[in-house]
Order: sequence, then C-alpha cells, then structure tokens
Amino acid sequence: MGGGCTIGQILAELNRHELTLPSIGLITEQTIAGATATGTHGTGKPGISHFIQSAKVVCFEEGRPVLREISDGDELRAVRCSLGAMGIVVELTFPAIPQYFVTDRLVRFGSLQEALSRESQTPLQQVFLIPLGWQIYGQCREVADTNRISKTSWLYRAYWNVGLCLGFVTLMKLLVSVLRSRRLLRCYYRWLAPWLIVTGWKVTDRSDRLLVIKHESFRHLELELFVPQSRIIEAADFLIEILSAADRADYRVSGDTRRRLEEVNMADALNDIRGKFSHHCPICIRKILPEDTLISMASGDQAWYAISLITYAQPRDDFYAVTTFLANSFFRLFGGRIHWGKWFPLEADTVEQQYPELDRFRKICREFDPAGRFQNEFVQRTLGLQPVVRESV
Ligand SMILES: Cc1cc2nc3c(=O)[nH]c(=O)nc-3n(C[C@H](O)[C@H](O)[C@H](O)COP(=O)(O)OP(=O)(O)OC[C@H]3O[C@@H](n4cnc5c(N)ncnc54)[C@H](O)[C@@H]3O)c2cc1C
Repeated sequence: MGGGCTIGQILAELNRHELTLPSIGLITEQTIAGATATGTHGTGKPGISHFIQSAKVVCFEEGRPVLREISDGDELRAVRCSLGAMGIVVELTFPAIPQYFVTDRLVRFGSLQEALSRESQTPLQQVFLIPLGWQIYGQCREVADTNRISKTSWLYRAYWNVGLCLGFVTLMKLLVSVLRSRRLLRCYYRWLAPWLIVTGWKVTDRSDRLLVIKHESFRHLELELFVPQSRIIEAADFLIEILSAADRADYRVSGDTRRRLEEVNMADALNDIRGKFSHHCPICIRKILPEDTLISMASGDQAWYAISLITYAQPRDDFYAVTTFLANSFFRLFGGRIHWGKWFPLEADTVEQQYPELDRFRKICREFDPAGRFQNEFVQRTLGLQPVVRESV
C-alpha cells in the first residue's frame, strides 16, 4: 500500500476481497505511514507497525535522493516505527488476513483484576476506568464464531458513535469548558454517567466496524502511558491516587504511594499539582502484545498496557502539569513509556533509558539520512539525534 493511503481506504479495499489488516487502532483516519511511524496500536494484538514486511523509503545517498527497499534485519525493525527520521516512507507491505467478525459487550466489573482476568476469554477487550468514581467497565470482545451480523449491531454502533462519542462527550465538554464546574463534573460521573453506560448488550459485526469508533469527533489532547504487563495493577492504583490528589488538594495518598514517591524524589512535585486538575474523560486501558521493532512503545519481549489520558478542556496548562508528573513517575516507578504519536513531555535523557535499542535506531537513521534532512525539532529533542550542518544538494 502507498504510504499516504488512509487506514480507512485500505480497510475498504481489503474488505472487497474479504480481507483485512492484522491490527487496527480506534480510528481509521490516519495514513498508514503516519500510523506506523508512531507505533499506533489497537488492543489484544501487537500494533500495526509490527506486521510490516517491507518498506520503500526515499532518502539520501551522497547528497542525492534514492529509493531504498527494506525487507529484513534491524533496518526493517527500525522502519516499522521510524518517526519519519529515516526518510519518506512511500510504500509498505503487510500480510492481509481473512476478514473476521467480532462479538462485543460492555460489562461492569468490581475491580481491574477481575476485568483483566477475563482476557483469556475476550482477548480483544479494552477496559474503561471512569474518572472520579473509578468504576471499571470492560468492552469485552472476542473473534466471533459466526459471520452473522446481529440485528441490533447498527444501533449498538450508533449508541457508541452518537450516544457516547458525541452525547457523552458534549455533556462532559459543557461541564469542563463552558460551566467549568468541577463539582458538577464529580456529580456527573458519580450519579449520571453510570446510567448512560449500557451493559450486557451483546452484538456481532465485522471487525473493522466494531473495533473502530468516531473518537475524532471532538478536538482533544492525549497522553498515553505504557506500562509492562506485570506492573499494570499497581500502576493503575497509583494513577487513581495521583488523579484523586490532582482533583482534591486535601486528598491523602496512601502510605504505599507516599513511599513510592519518596523513593523517586517526587513527593514535593505532587504538591505542585494538588487540587489543580479534575481528570474528566474515561481512561481506556488496552493490551498490546510484544512488537518486533526497535523503538515502538511495545517493542521488546513483554506485553504492555496502554493507559490513555484525554482532555477536552482548554487552556491545557494544568493537564500538562499533571500528565508530565505522570509520565515521569511512571517511568521511574514502573519502567513506563509514552506514545510517540500523542502528547510527549519527555526528553532524550529519559527516552535513552526507556529504549535499549535506541542507539541502534539512531545509527540506522544516520545511515539513511546522513545530513539530517528528515530530522525535526521533535526527533532531535526526544531521540537525541544531533542536528547536522547541511550541505547543498
Ligand atoms: C482521534 C485520534 C484517535 C487516535 N487513536 C489511536 C489509537 O487508537 N491507537 C493509537 O496507537 N494511536 C491513536 N492515535 C494516534 C495516531 O494514530 C498517530 O498520531 C498517527 O501518527 C496519526 O497518523 P497521521 O497519518 O495523522 O500522521 P501524521 O500526524 O501526519 O504523522 C505522524 C508522524 O509520522 C511520520 N510520517 C507520516 N507520514 C510519513 C511518511 N510518509 N514517511 C515517513 N514518516 C511519516 C512523521 O514523523 C510524522 O510526524 C489517534 C489519534 C487521533 C487524533
């Protein structure tokens, strides 16, 4: 596929042949080159980048533009998630897989442990943590054993896209952006939101319909934290404590959280964000299986959980302060990483410690782009690529 094709175009074309992509994210508006360059993922599988079999990249050789084909080795692992630093990806090859159907149902759980213990039965599930009340819902999904579309599937998708992505978010936006009332927001989540979440409604539909939602309807900003699978429960407990303290200045964190923060010298930093920001969007937790890449967020031998923190409020200064605190504390306490294609507050000295193969990645970038023509301020700041004095072409 051409690098500039959107995932939506690709899925539509593949579906005409009863095929689909091996992995997709929540939306299909991204280009395939942009989605893979930043490690875009869905849930219950490795991200899309992992599946790239070969790539054609326009880069420079001795100052002249050339087209290079990459189909194996560390170069392939690098180009699968390259942040644009290896050159212009003009073509990507993926294995198409037979189109499959998915069964989907929202379930309320008593705890995150209980929700995650269901993964073996519903491996494509994602979990939602409802802010301020901290109830847990699982969107329990598995590959269906039938290819029959449920009669109410269209209504279920309308419920998600119109009811939740538009209605639920409009109410939330009204509270955080127009009324700016944290008290009403707390009431919304404690009393009204649980009634808007319909559980137990089970439907089956085509994978590219049920795995995707209209999440792009409203402008928002997101930071996505990644934690290794083995640390998710303690990381989620810690997250709730920090967001509770950010919501209410007088919230007393547990002894365990205090000890953790002291261990990493962040106890004072918590005081700077106390009472500043009420997190207002449901937090989606997705599992990403290990990816064979050099620097995508789920690269390495273990599975990861991605925890998404979204804001619809502006100005965003308080969100920046709280999520910067979380990005740093998650790294120091749980070996956490941050999604490349979302808001990214970390610098190269931290990234260096997060990605053991970063040096190999930088060497490959220099080989493909000796004059640093494809570098921008972002990759220099986060990957530690040095700006190069440019020769004329
Ligand atoms: C509403 C919304 C929902 C999202 N949902 C998810 C999700 O479910 N899962 C997830 O993981 N992420 C998700 N994302 C993040 C999104 O997938 C990434 O930000 C992705 O990079 C966007 O793709 P794009 O085509 O817009 O890329 P762009 O923003 O245009 O580019 C991103 C980067 O990719 C590189 N790039 C782009 N094109 C090329 C090329 N041809 N050659 C070389 N490098 C290139 C460049 O470095 C560029 O800076 C979401 C984002 C939004 C806005």
